[in-house]
Amino acid sequence: MDTILVIGASGQIGTVLVQHLQNQYGLNRVIASDLRMPQAFSGIFESLDATKADELAALVRRYRVTQIYHLAAILSANGEANPIRTWEINMQTALNVLEVARTQNVSKVFIPSSIAVFGPSAPAFDTPQQTQLDPTTVYGISKVAAENWMHYYHVKYGLDVRSLRYPGVISYQSQPGGGTTDYAVAIYHQAVQGQDFTCFLSENTRLPMIYMDDAIRATLELMEAESSRIRVRTAYNLAGLSFTPAEITAAIQKFFPNFRTQYAPDFRQQIADSWPKTIDDQAARNDWEWAPAFDLSRMTEEMIHHLSEYYQ
Ligand code: NAD
Repeated sequence: MDTILVIGASGQIGTVLVQHLQNQYGLNRVIASDLRMPQAFSGIFESLDATKADELAALVRRYRVTQIYHLAAILSANGEANPIRTWEINMQTALNVLEVARTQNVSKVFIPSSIAVFGPSAPAFDTPQQTQLDPTTVYGISKVAAENWMHYYHVKYGLDVRSLRYPGVISYQSQPGGGTTDYAVAIYHQAVQGQDFTCFLSENTRLPMIYMDDAIRATLELMEAESSRIRVRTAYNLAGLSFTPAEITAAIQKFFPNFRTQYAPDFRQQIADSWPKTIDDQAARNDWEWAPAFDLSRMTEEMIHHLSEYYQ
């Protein structure tokens, strides 16, 4: 029987992932941990600062943890406010997780990467799995380093560590945590409340995104795949959909014809401009049969449906 530790469980992805893992493995088999308790939580929650290796090791021992999902990180936009602290938190937590997994015989580890590993030298369209990685954010630098550490632990110690380069994740269940793609969640909240939206990116900034259902399914499918099929031990490119602020505005206008977006690009525009516009995820499709299910119109319908219920 597996016992699963989720670190960073109160964040945008963790809140939703924990529920899926609880459904799959049972309430008593999933330990949610974070600096802060999630809202309206049921199940096992442990307060944890993952920069503290001894606290993490004690938790893994106490619950005899067999799998770790490590989601704690400072994200791209927030990270730029304090680069050194971002590097320290992102690297220390990742290394603590890899080390505790190695020393305590944790059988599987998931540490997500990001499209932020790519920089200006990577082809912007259909960005390939293997290409030059020259990120312009400290967040991206920390993700490239974490990918290399994961690969190192796999090759050197045989650790079964798996990873995805998530695009911007769009969800109705939870709020994003300070990334460059956050606008694509905020825009739906404004629209269903009958308000116009001011976008911090310009109208034709195309970025790779993914709907939360697809992101969770990709994560679970990757983790369930036979180890021999996982041929990428840095992190897999993962594609959902790609769109611009103008295109998501048009998709929303099909439901709310009077909805308008104004554009006031800020420092996040420069980050977005350094990232891919579309992603080639052929390796994920070949190795563990990844296929996304949500396009822009299906995602928009779901987001508006769920958020309308929420704001009723
Ligand atoms: P988030 O910011 O919403 O959540 C991160 C959580 O980590 C927060 O609840 C925070 O309290 C917690 N945390 C921070 N420092 C911690 C520490 N020292 N110890 C324990 N917990 C700590 O992030 P998210 O959007 O849920 O992202 C999860 C992972 O997915 C991250 O690794 C992120 O880089 C990656 N990712 C996310 C996206 C996205 O669009 N959401 C895109 C690409 C990659």
